[in-house]
Amino acid sequence: MGSVGVEVEESGEAVAVREEARAWFEANWDPELSIGEWWKLLAASGWGLPTWPREWYGRGLPSHLARVVGDEAKAVGTAPAPTGVSIMLACPTIVAHGTDEQKRRFVPPAVHGEQMWCQLFSEPGAGSDLASLQTRAVRDGDEWVVDGQKVWTSGAQYSEWGILIARTDPDVPKHKGITFFVIDMHQPGVEVRPIVEMSGGKTFNEVFLTEARVPNANVIGEVNGGWAVTMTTLANERQSLGAQSSNFMGGGRLFDKADLSVSAGEYAKPAGGELGGLGALLGGGAGQVLAMAAQMTGKAGDAITRQNLMRLLSLVEINRYTGLRVTAATSRGLAPGPEVSTGKLAASQLVREARDALMALFGGPAMLAGTDAPFGGMLQMLTLMSPAVSIAGGTDQIQRNIIGERVLGLPAEPRVDKDVAFKDTLVN
Ligand SMILES: Cc1cc2nc3c(=O)[nH]c(=O)nc-3n(C[C@H](O)[C@H](O)[C@H](O)COP(=O)(O)OP(=O)(O)OC[C@H]3O[C@@H](n4cnc5c(N)ncnc54)[C@H](O)[C@@H]3O)c2cc1C
Repeated sequence: MGSVGVEVEESGEAVAVREEARAWFEANWDPELSIGEWWKLLAASGWGLPTWPREWYGRGLPSHLARVVGDEAKAVGTAPAPTGVSIMLACPTIVAHGTDEQKRRFVPPAVHGEQMWCQLFSEPGAGSDLASLQTRAVRDGDEWVVDGQKVWTSGAQYSEWGILIARTDPDVPKHKGITFFVIDMHQPGVEVRPIVEMSGGKTFNEVFLTEARVPNANVIGEVNGGWAVTMTTLANERQSLGAQSSNFMGGGRLFDKADLSVSAGEYAKPAGGELGGLGALLGGGAGQVLAMAAQMTGKAGDAITRQNLMRLLSLVEINRYTGLRVTAATSRGLAPGPEVSTGKLAASQLVREARDALMALFGGPAMLAGTDAPFGGMLQMLTLMSPAVSIAGGTDQIQRNIIGERVLGLPAEPRVDKDVAFKDTLVN
């Protein structure tokens, strides 16, 4: 089933999943429930997070079948599962590497939308070269004491928990002395300072850690084995932010703290209004959004507009079908392969092209903010946010490096510090 009339034959497995999911959504969706009640029901069914293992709120489906489930949820008009760092990054990592006790402690409140998480990875001197991080954690009895600075931490100001990577052994090469922790954000040693973005919003923050405490029970994976755990988080991030993702379907709700008493029906309405925000564009709706805009501006017959529309639509469809094949071939439940970087790159291109086409349609007014501007100011917001897609979760250049080295098997970049103790390397 294609989003704009492209028909591809579905496997028997896909048809069976489609029918079962549709039946469940039709029988259980009730817009009168509170969003908190709906999320509990959805979590128990496994249909909200279909790629997750059955014992942890999922159905163990590969990505291409999860997409089928997403189509059915959309067709019935249900509210999406909770999203954000908790669902996209923290829980998949904990499910893959944590102990059963850690899974029982952290996963249920996240899938019920009760707790928010943030990702404390990037530092002023460590972004693309994340393994150069300098935040350190030192063991003190049953706890670790953490000192350092993180930056670009989205949603830190609303979060209960953070996934944190810190240096625990500076005497070994940089990738080998890192440990992955879960840190309580509500403690005196954690200071969150919001950063004002060019859009005027304050999504991300600087986070200063000064003798912050983490119990040893919150180490995920092995001490000094945190890089392997981090790889799982980053692969899930690339998949979540990619053009094939359904995580953006909720449209712009990534870092919102949900009010669990709001009706599920209210929550089912797409955030970002008519335009649908980044969610609609990345969720495969770019062609439809542009077609609507062409009608609104009376330019649907204009040759250049039609050319732009066709290019965008072709891009959406190519991504949808080639992307699904890629993830079908390589994704193993919560351990996506390096090929998901193709979807992340495609998302960057999609958003840039959609932005440019929409700006060309509306001209000067597209630059305006405020409710009387085109799409209630969302177009201007989308334009200001568009560069984020090429940076967050690893820049376009880094995705190309991953594809070159780990998918195509091309020679790796020179790494002069590979065998040098971190304390002897030159860091920024
Ligand atoms: C909207 C948004 C939200 C974010 N949220 C979070 C968050 O919640 N938590 C978090 O930890 N981080 C977050 N980040 C940070 C993000 O992960 C980093 O910005 C990103 O990894 C790039 O790192 P950097 O900014 O330090 O750039 P740098 O690494 O300094 O890169 C600068 C430039 O050099 C290029 N470059 C660097 N190395 C190479 C190379 N080897 N080959 C080719 N080119 C290279 C890059 O592509 C880039 O163009 C967020 C970023 C954005 C934009």
